[in-house]
Amino acid sequence: MRARRPFVPDRRSPRLVRATLGDRSELFTEAAGPPPAVYGERWVHDGRRSFRSFEPGRSKLSAGLVREWSGPVPRVGESWLYLGAATGTTASHVADLVGPEGRVYAVERSPRPFARLLSLAERWPNLLPILGDAREVRELSALVAPVHGVYADIAQPDQVAIVRANAELFLDGREAAVVLALKTASMGRERDPAGHLAAAEHELASAVELVPSVRLDPFHRGHFLVGGRYRPGRPAGRTPLRLTRSRGARPARRSP
Ligand code: SAM
Repeated sequence: MRARRPFVPDRRSPRLVRATLGDRSELFTEAAGPPPAVYGERWVHDGRRSFRSFEPGRSKLSAGLVREWSGPVPRVGESWLYLGAATGTTASHVADLVGPEGRVYAVERSPRPFARLLSLAERWPNLLPILGDAREVRELSALVAPVHGVYADIAQPDQVAIVRANAELFLDGREAAVVLALKTASMGRERDPAGHLAAAEHELASAVELVPSVRLDPFHRGHFLVGGRYRPGRPAGRTPLRLTRSRGARPARRSP
């Protein structure tokens, strides 16, 4: 499809644009891999550049951007660790945002979605799939180099502890970023979503300079995008990390 009007750059990334198609304005990322569509998203070509619709109903990161998330957005050339990549819907857009010079370590523990992630990585050369458990940070460290950002979407009761453990081990540099798609429904029934959000922010605040969290309803019920810039070396007041042990990580093999 050809855009009827030029793309308008989005201030948050040179690889993120808005395009007007009909009477709707939508977000697109510049594709870091070739067609076909990854999950049924639309492709638009503008000269030599190809863009993929970044759908808020399919991606919590997109929903956050639609909701004017003011926190970190993957930058061109950066490396990110993506926890809970599933089949690669959002991970492919993160790979688009960092572009061909960047890379995304995409961790997924479930073999079924991982198989599709692996096949996607054949086309997205900057997407590096890892079959593993995000709790097993020491095992992941054999496969993951220091990164500029950690993005997590793992829907686990201890999701905040998991993201912190990975941030501590893998984040590099003063501008390092933490972004968590927080699923409050995974955190028990003793609090409402706002209570879970407050608890998560409290747990993260000793390690992350938080920006205002954004609510992702109605795109993703009971979810929030939470995060900011990491500030290492503040052990005082930290909540002890409690991670559950599970199976180990395996590097992905690309087919020859
Ligand atoms: N982030 C995906 C997207 O937007 O395209 C959707 C992720 S889905 C909500 C959560 C995924 O996290 C599932 O595929 C699940 O298998 C994975 N997951 C849950 N716990 C995990 C863990 N401890 N380590 C790695 N992956 C995990």
